Amino acid sequence: MGYDCAFLDDLDLDGSVSTDASYREGRATDWGTPPDLETLPDAVVWPASTSDVAAVLAAANERGVPVTPYAAGSGLEGSAAPTHGGISLDMTRMDGIVEVRPDDLQVDVEPGVIGSDVDEAVGRHGLFFPPLPSSGDISTIGGMIATDASGMKTVKYGEVSDWVLRLEAVLADGRVITAGTKAAKSSSGYNLKDLVVGSEGTLAVVTEATLKLAGIPEQKRAGRAIFPTIDDATSAISDAITSGVDVATIELLDETTATMANAYAGLDLPDAPMVFLEFHADHGIEEEVEFCRTIFEAHDVSQFEMAATESEMDRLWQARKDVAYASREWDDDLEPLHPGDVTVPISKYPEIIRYARDLAAEYDLTIPCFGHAGDGNFHYVVLVDPDDPDHVAAGEEVYARIVDRALELGGTATGEHGIGLGKREFLVAEHGEATVEVMRAIKRALDPRDTLNPGKMFPETLEGKRIRGVDDA
Ligand SMILES: Cc1cc2nc3c(=O)[nH]c(=O)nc-3n(C[C@H](O)[C@H](O)[C@H](O)COP(=O)(O)OP(=O)(O)OC[C@H]3O[C@@H](n4cnc5c(N)ncnc54)[C@H](O)[C@@H]3O)c2cc1C
Repeated sequence: MGYDCAFLDDLDLDGSVSTDASYREGRATDWGTPPDLETLPDAVVWPASTSDVAAVLAAANERGVPVTPYAAGSGLEGSAAPTHGGISLDMTRMDGIVEVRPDDLQVDVEPGVIGSDVDEAVGRHGLFFPPLPSSGDISTIGGMIATDASGMKTVKYGEVSDWVLRLEAVLADGRVITAGTKAAKSSSGYNLKDLVVGSEGTLAVVTEATLKLAGIPEQKRAGRAIFPTIDDATSAISDAITSGVDVATIELLDETTATMANAYAGLDLPDAPMVFLEFHADHGIEEEVEFCRTIFEAHDVSQFEMAATESEMDRLWQARKDVAYASREWDDDLEPLHPGDVTVPISKYPEIIRYARDLAAEYDLTIPCFGHAGDGNFHYVVLVDPDDPDHVAAGEEVYARIVDRALELGGTATGEHGIGLGKREFLVAEHGEATVEVMRAIKRALDPRDTLNPGKMFPETLEGKRIRGVDDA
């Protein structure tokens, strides 16, 4: 149903408004929106200030018009897709770096700034923002906060929520709140800051953030290890983490993924399980590398290569960098289902990977397995023939069985991409109905008219699909 958004013209905005089809089409999807859920918004608004955001939200809320925040659209679960029409609130023009405070290791930013631009600005002060996702150069800080993103360095430094100190945000009815503080810690009142982080634009629109920063380490080493079998690789990773190897990045590619990455980039690496490593330290980095090598040798590592220079590191890491594109381009007849993002306790990592690979063999499906292994995060892409309904159904079944198994192992359906549209069916299975009902109560309290990013997160917004943990209870 189309909404009349003519009221936007009467608002005295610093930013701009458009109902042009090309702009509306550009915000109908993100990277992960299923084609059947692509919906054009009725208008796109580019706010230029917090007061613009407040004016748009207040006016839309009064009229019952949905508003869906949109940033760079790199999300993988359809969270930014305006499935109920209304307004797409494009935050990318609020992209300023407000103030860098090196003495406090802090930066204040507007939400639309691209992650790597923050790193560039604070890098002049010898600082960096550690939890940037792999997509840090194509995604915004607001999008990262809204999805509680994390990245390759999360194993050492933590996720985005660990690095957000304070937020300014606008509620569905236009009220502006500040959550958190610039102090390093606080016990004051409910922790609204962490409630907004990861809420996928369903509770509030972030208009400014104070981020913590870290000093760029004096020493960095990067390398790649190759293992004869996937079990050797995953047990080596689990062993390294539990033994306390101080690693900044530890990424896994199984041999299916390695084959795809080799083909995509024309590399002549063995089609074997690979582990990519990076170490950060101010002193003693060689001891840490050797500690890791010793553990990997106990798991039969066949090659352990450390880069001598930065360009050498780029060469060693090429296969890891190409994964997202390599799996999409692997076979013209196959398309990826939405990407798996389960995360399990580290001791269960070998088991969940084994389980996924056994299912791939059982169903005769191609499923590249890779991920931020050090924090138990496992990405998998089930490739299916979109013209064959049985193939798609088998793919969906395998996808869901892997999530179910991750939950049984004490894990989560999503380590970093969020629930969005793609994982609504697992929310109750993961948290239980009582907990999800508390989440609904919070949503009702902050957005009683359900105008802020409706149709996301909650399983009742799914139509005609089995809700795991409810329909099979
Ligand atoms: C190649 C590739 C690699 C990726 N790697 C990673 C990875 O390593 N780790 C990871 O975590 N993710 C990864 N992602 C997923 C994605 O990049 C992240 O989810 C990212 O944080 C989304 O940011 P965005 O600016 O694109 O936001 P969008 O996709 O535009 O929006 C994401 C969500 O944030 C909400 N939102 C946006 N701005 C605001 C705001 N100001 N206030 C409130 N809500 C807002 C939207 O409504 C939506 O719900 C990857 C994606 C790609 C394509």
